[in-house]
Amino acid sequence: MSLFSRRGLSLLRGGWRIEFAVAVSLLLAPYILPWIGFNADTMARIMIWGLFGLGFDLLFGYTGLLSFGQAAFFGVGGFVSAYLLVNGLVPNVFAALLIGTLLAAVYGALIGLLALRRVGIYFAMITLAFGEMSFFLENSPLSAFTGGENGLPGVPTPVLHLGFATIALKSGQWNMYGFMAVLFLIGFVIARRIVKSPFGAVLLAIRENTSRARACGHSVQKYKLTIFIVAAAYGGFAGGLLGILQAYMPPDAFTLQTSGQLVMQTVIGGSGTLIGPLVGATIWLYLREVLQHIPDIGALWKLILGAVFVILVTVFRRGICGEILRWGQRREALATNSPGATEVDPPRARSRSPREPATPEASRGSATDDAPVILETRGLSKHFGGVHAVTEVNFSVRSGEVRALIGPNGAGKSTFFKMLTGEHIPTAGEIYFRGDQITAQGPTAVSQLGMSKSYQINQLFASLTVRQNLTIPVLARQRGPFRLDMLRRLDRWGAVNRKVEEIMQLMGLAERADQPTSVLAYGEKRRLEIGLALAMEPEVLLLDEPLAGMSPSERADTIALLQELRIGRTLVVVEHDMDAVFELAEHITVFYEGEKLAEGTPEDIKGNSQVQDAYLGGMDEDELA
Ligand code: ADP
Ligand code: MG
Repeated sequence: MSLFSRRGLSLLRGGWRIEFAVAVSLLLAPYILPWIGFNADTMARIMIWGLFGLGFDLLFGYTGLLSFGQAAFFGVGGFVSAYLLVNGLVPNVFAALLIGTLLAAVYGALIGLLALRRVGIYFAMITLAFGEMSFFLENSPLSAFTGGENGLPGVPTPVLHLGFATIALKSGQWNMYGFMAVLFLIGFVIARRIVKSPFGAVLLAIRENTSRARACGHSVQKYKLTIFIVAAAYGGFAGGLLGILQAYMPPDAFTLQTSGQLVMQTVIGGSGTLIGPLVGATIWLYLREVLQHIPDIGALWKLILGAVFVILVTVFRRGICGEILRWGQRREALATNSPGATEVDPPRARSRSPREPATPEASRGSATDDAPVILETRGLSKHFGGVHAVTEVNFSVRSGEVRALIGPNGAGKSTFFKMLTGEHIPTAGEIYFRGDQITAQGPTAVSQLGMSKSYQINQLFASLTVRQNLTIPVLARQRGPFRLDMLRRLDRWGAVNRKVEEIMQLMGLAERADQPTSVLAYGEKRRLEIGLALAMEPEVLLLDEPLAGMSPSERADTIALLQELRIGRTLVVVEHDMDAVFELAEHITVFYEGEKLAEGTPEDIKGNSQVQDAYLGGMDEDELA
């Protein structure tokens, strides 16, 4: 590993270097940016947009929730703080800012509860609607408090009593920039802590693959609502500062234009970087406030801005900071992948040919016939409109058993599995896990109870690394479905990191630890898929076609792995590879057209003429032998 990559890694992973670099940049900016036309007022304003953007980036860049209504919180924080100060209800500027921020957060909780009931474009549209409603409320019914179209003039500028000095801040002066820059830095440090916390890791998982995050055992809705509130609080705080900066709270804080500008600045600067919105705001305000004063060019600022936006979005899809970060990561990856370190398929940590009989006693019959039933379904059905995917299935598995579920494509196996894990709500019937009803409890609860599933079609957290992927279920296992550990350092949580390391070793993925899943070979992705389910340390592990698409040697390795995984666990495996099925399973259940056709030992199934006709009929005699 080269010096560069080591430096890059520690920069990205730990320490305070990024915070330090941002602090130095903020300190140097007043000595550099005025050369190209920035003044103190514009730069203070950029800090406010930067703060506003920190919250938005946590929401959009990190959690994948695109809100077009952030102006509502900017406005609430701004007007509440301004109203308290203008009317002398709260003499202290910081107390007024705090109250404004809290009320924006409460407003965020209300809107979030409603908007987060929908996803994607519907979520975005609901936030937009709330933004517009808030603007209307501010302008008409509440105009006695907000001044309506006139806004609230006369917001006092703070005087800071620092003990050793008293600083009277003034708009347009550098001390105002300094004040805003310090507050931005504090906001940035807090946001970075959130991003580096276990909480932040779950946010990324939600962005990458919401349903898998849920299946890993996280209460996705609670995380979404929390980060929505955090973003609202950042917005409210920034809004409060706007009134202070201008000594006036403008009504346009509430407009759709404000929400839109925030989105565009974040995209220009690079979402998911925290610093991106600040960079975007710098470009935006530069074009607006600096170019506007240049004769001939001034009138064109919006055109130039539009062109900049289009170029950035088409050429640098990740925004300015996003592209810089990616460039750094690429160099790092190149340094790591020096010749010899690259292997498409790294040797497995442990390898044994599964075809050599692995002590028959160990691989067969660990579940005795008097072991308790751990998983049971009664009359379980699932209909999709007219399609009867699963019909009245009675099924039970004993603790410690290895059960195979076979049947032709479309027989309802995957649908059955999805009902077991709570992803599909059954049309009829019940599911019992360790004797308790778990029907329709949802994937988060089922996963936390101790049953997880690997998917037929990979459901990975695509742009996260292998390590980050496996951290998600491990976190769910160690901290439960939801915890507000926003300031805890994930990289210092030894138990979590050790567990992740252990799973990577077991799955033969240790050498790929810090590679994004997109660069993995297919077989590696399949192993990671199984690893995600395994990392929850489930009592019952459901595997939906774990061998699908694997090369013969990968299959052999995976079958050997399954032999290992079965120890102390109950396995239910959907698989088409009959050799594997007959080798692994103690009992086999056959599905056909949504119904349970047969059930029994491998010998029973091989000899069952109905099964022969329905499913195995097409196979060679020796394949069945
Ligand atoms: P298998 O896993 O055994 O191949 P599936 O459970 O995937 O079968 O599918 C069973 C039947 O249910 C198929 O006819 C399939 O088209 C249908 N099906 C599965 N999921 C859905 C869905 N979400 N909506 C409508 N039909 C579905
Ligand atoms: Mg299937």
